[in-house]
Amino acid sequence: MAEASPLEPCRDATMATFVQKFGGTSVGDPTRIARCAARVKARRDEGHHVVVVVSAMGHTTDELIELAERVTDKPSRRELDMLMATGEQVSVALVAMALERLGVPATSLTGGQAGITTDGAYGRARVTRVARERLDREIALGRVPVVCGFQGLSSDGELTTLGRGGSDTTAVALAAALHVAEHGGACEIFTDVDGVYTADPRLVPKATKLARISYEEMLELALLGAQVMHPRAVLFGERYGVPIHVRHSQRPDEGTLICRETPDMEDVMVVGAALKPDLGRVSLRRIPNNPGMQGMLFEAVAKAGILVDDIVQTEFGEMASISFTVDHSELADVKIAASQVLDRVGTGELAIEIGLSKVSVVGTGMKSHVGVASRMFKALGEAGIPIHNITTSEIKISCIVNKEHGARAIAIAHDAFGLDKLGAAQAAGTAG
Ligand code: ASP
Ligand code: MG
Repeated sequence: MAEASPLEPCRDATMATFVQKFGGTSVGDPTRIARCAARVKARRDEGHHVVVVVSAMGHTTDELIELAERVTDKPSRRELDMLMATGEQVSVALVAMALERLGVPATSLTGGQAGITTDGAYGRARVTRVARERLDREIALGRVPVVCGFQGLSSDGELTTLGRGGSDTTAVALAAALHVAEHGGACEIFTDVDGVYTADPRLVPKATKLARISYEEMLELALLGAQVMHPRAVLFGERYGVPIHVRHSQRPDEGTLICRETPDMEDVMVVGAALKPDLGRVSLRRIPNNPGMQGMLFEAVAKAGILVDDIVQTEFGEMASISFTVDHSELADVKIAASQVLDRVGTGELAIEIGLSKVSVVGTGMKSHVGVASRMFKALGEAGIPIHNITTSEIKISCIVNKEHGARAIAIAHDAFGLDKLGAAQAAGTAG
């Protein structure tokens, strides 16, 4: 902490602090910006401190990337970050102006100005430190800081971005640094959906809105393809115990609270289903299962910067076959890396299948219930959907299916666990 500021006493420690984050759609045009500003003012009028985090307007980030691609097919990561970061700078200035128009004093800040330090990994930087002095100072002056999401400054003073969807992470990191939970505050994520659903309602129309979900479940769903929250934001929330409240930016609905697991949450076996489309499966078949073979293979894959999904190995005698799934976009790179490994081991064959999807169900209640896997497999089986691969963890079960079966498979899994009724049961306090 820096030396005591003369302004310190103005910050009333009994007031709650809310970090309010508005996504790209929510600040997509001047009318929406005005509505966001009204939301901020309403929180403040209740007697709370507010810190605002915003994303770039609408599809600005995509448009900036397209623009770069029209200049060169190999933009450097540094320049791309410099370019992408401008999107959020437009929105903070406009949101601050909209607040001032409502009579709320506001100060727009870049991520760096707001105290966000990251590592130096352009395009996917991690937040390493949040210095809260500047935010405290603005709050003490009675002003609302409006902070650029998705960006920070490395310790070398380089501008960085946190990866697509990274504004959520900015918001939760600031909420953690400001200890919002201590005085009854929260991190409010305002978006164009009214909360976290048991599945993406565009895929499963019967999906229901959850009143609450644990960090662990939300993280798993986010990693398995649910697009509500940036996984790193959920991790931050879990680590620092930040209550995260996902709400609709244009409607007053209650939304979904992401929080620590409570004992009654364990009563529900499954809280959500997710679908990850466009996966490819890479198989190295009949290779000698020598010690170190797996290390060599996945080191080569990691060096090529490829994110591996699930890994399955089968062994027969001295030989083994290894399969793993990757996103379609990684297939070209993975083919090169895997071929080089095959050349080194001297025998075996490489097979690449495309057009797969992964359907998963998630719930911390799985830890204490039996029969979850069999229920999922049976439901898919009765629908005539072949399962190509199965992976499980303590709180999830995933099946790889053909892409054309993906949408039906998630609807079937959703039905099998009665998720169409979970939202109402949670709201009525009868879930489980
Ligand atoms: N504007 C950035 C993106 O589109 C960050 C965000 O929206 O969270 O990915
Ligand atoms: Mg977003």
